[in-house]
Amino acid sequence: MKITLLTVFSLATICSSALAGSTSSTSSYKLRPDPEGQFPRLGACPDAHACIFPPDVSQFIPGAYFDLRVELHAYDEDTSKPTPAPYTQFKTTVRKNNGPWSDVNRYFDLPNPKLEEWNFSWVNSIDAHLGTIKDGKPVSPVNVAVSSRAWRKLKFKEAGSYEIKVEYGPKQSYTVKYTVPKKPKQKAKNVILFISDGTNTGMITAARAVAKAHTSGKYHEFLSFESFDNLGHVITNSVDSLTTDSANSASAYSTGHKSSVNALSVYCDSSEDPFDDPKVESITELIRRRQPNKAIGIVTTAYGQDATPAAFVSHTRKRSTYQEISDQIINGVPDWTDPVIPDVWLTGGAEYFKGPLSLNGTDYYKEFSKKGYKVVQNKKDLNNYNGKDKLMGVFRQGSLDVWFERNLYVNNTVGNKAAPDMSGKDALGSDQPGLEDMTIKALETLKKRGGDDGFFLMSEAASVDKKLHVFDFPRAFAELVELDVTIKKTVEWLKKNGEYEDTLILVTADHAHSFDVWGSVDRNYLSGHVDNTAKLNSIGVYGQSGWPGYFDTNGDGFPDNWTPNIVLAAGTSNGPDHYEAWNTSKDEIRNPSITGPDKLTYIPNPEDAAGDYQKGLKWNSNLPTEENQGVHSMSDVFIYSNGPGSDLFKKTFENWDLFFKMAEAMDLLRPTKKEN
Ligand SMILES: [Zn+2]
Repeated sequence: MKITLLTVFSLATICSSALAGSTSSTSSYKLRPDPEGQFPRLGACPDAHACIFPPDVSQFIPGAYFDLRVELHAYDEDTSKPTPAPYTQFKTTVRKNNGPWSDVNRYFDLPNPKLEEWNFSWVNSIDAHLGTIKDGKPVSPVNVAVSSRAWRKLKFKEAGSYEIKVEYGPKQSYTVKYTVPKKPKQKAKNVILFISDGTNTGMITAARAVAKAHTSGKYHEFLSFESFDNLGHVITNSVDSLTTDSANSASAYSTGHKSSVNALSVYCDSSEDPFDDPKVESITELIRRRQPNKAIGIVTTAYGQDATPAAFVSHTRKRSTYQEISDQIINGVPDWTDPVIPDVWLTGGAEYFKGPLSLNGTDYYKEFSKKGYKVVQNKKDLNNYNGKDKLMGVFRQGSLDVWFERNLYVNNTVGNKAAPDMSGKDALGSDQPGLEDMTIKALETLKKRGGDDGFFLMSEAASVDKKLHVFDFPRAFAELVELDVTIKKTVEWLKKNGEYEDTLILVTADHAHSFDVWGSVDRNYLSGHVDNTAKLNSIGVYGQSGWPGYFDTNGDGFPDNWTPNIVLAAGTSNGPDHYEAWNTSKDEIRNPSITGPDKLTYIPNPEDAAGDYQKGLKWNSNLPTEENQGVHSMSDVFIYSNGPGSDLFKKTFENWDLFFKMAEAMDLLRPTKKEN
């Protein structure tokens, strides 16, 4: 009896001392769930007054660069009261593996950075957001007085767990924890990351139904990447919201850090300057430091300054700072690591490389040439290039035209005055390369340049997303089918050139649209009837859905007929007011909603042929009135993977982890001998 009691007592002692250890005065760390609310004071900033960026639970590769910013926020939510004085006295300390705390300056051997101060407006409610009038005046946001310090270009040299603590006020403190994991060595010589922007599994299923033949309901073959070794799931939300935009989702892939809407490879502080936000090192910058001979390629059907490509070459709080993004491609940013200077750059966005919109009027075609680039501006010159020099191809102002306008309706590009040389001439769709032309030329050039050190290529099908935003389903399908054909040709090229066994291929999306198909539509029946009941009955579901009339008789991977009578009854879960008739817009690209007479809300576009204005089915808005298009959705996205390292991608994981998995596959995790 006595022995048993003793045992219980000693166990209790062990438990209480263990508990005491975790809550003792030396550790103020507590993992906090994100708070409820649509209007956070600042993303990833759960403490009432202190913010630390990178935020809590961030992860780093040993030796990868990051900026550290600490902000203290003084405010009173009662806006009738004056703003309190800023917290100018605060102490920032760091420790490793629960060891002793030391001053951040001492730990990183840096001078104390200057104290910065500014104010920002915290819009903390829907009424403050809308400026609702209450008691005769608009509801005002909360004024926040900020004091801050930023430490630039830090790194944790070794694996371990790290905590950063800020102590402020009489005795408040806030602590975040970072992990620097140690991972085994893997090796994929080449990595090709295909990003199908805004594509969900519903779109993959629909593209298969549009492009692939079937007999007795069984497909003759699947899409090219559906035979890949592994399939996984990626969680796409951002640090501070359920749904993401392409900037912060691409940044998560590129840097291993989730961020906020519109941010490119930085965490978002509260200051105005879009270029002073704490940066995190991108996979392309890490390649340049650790495997400098590896070749890097960026390919997209969008303008090159658009979010997805920009996340791999720039750092800015605002994705719309296109001029500076263009400059950062070859010149990088101050107080940071070397610029990426990709070996291959094939995009649109000519207006930011030359002419009045380019930074300080710089002619970047000349600047790229000076850095050793061969510059091409049309499909013919791209396809004819067989050199070993770095390659810059810019084929249009804005985004490249979509597959429809490059292949079927080239006349729609007459008069666009979008020539990449900024001469004011047209950039005809037939003169612009497609994703396949650009990707295969990128592979040829990257192989020549990377040699035994291999290459990293990001290739984006950008307009799947752009066409889903405006419910232009035929054009969205064609963009995805173009990606499918591109991947098929990529695999053939890799096999022919002896690179297949050494190449990790990833096919994923950066976020979803809530796209799905619930049956089929008889378009002739729909347009031949006026009453709504008859129109609704043009939709066939379950047993009446049958099959749509797409056939690929010439075997090029694309259907020969894009306007059959029976098409997919397709849509997304949200949108502004518009009409839907599932027609194909032949004379122009679809624009389903336009600004209404009140200039505040969006109404159906009378010119929208795809919706058959007032004759198609009416879709009622379920979005805030400022949204003129459908918006992204939160479903996880697919990731198909093939080749060395592809086992890493077969689970459910978060978007930031893609960076670490790619870095692991490319053997980029360990500091090189040159790094101290
Ligand atoms: Zn989008």
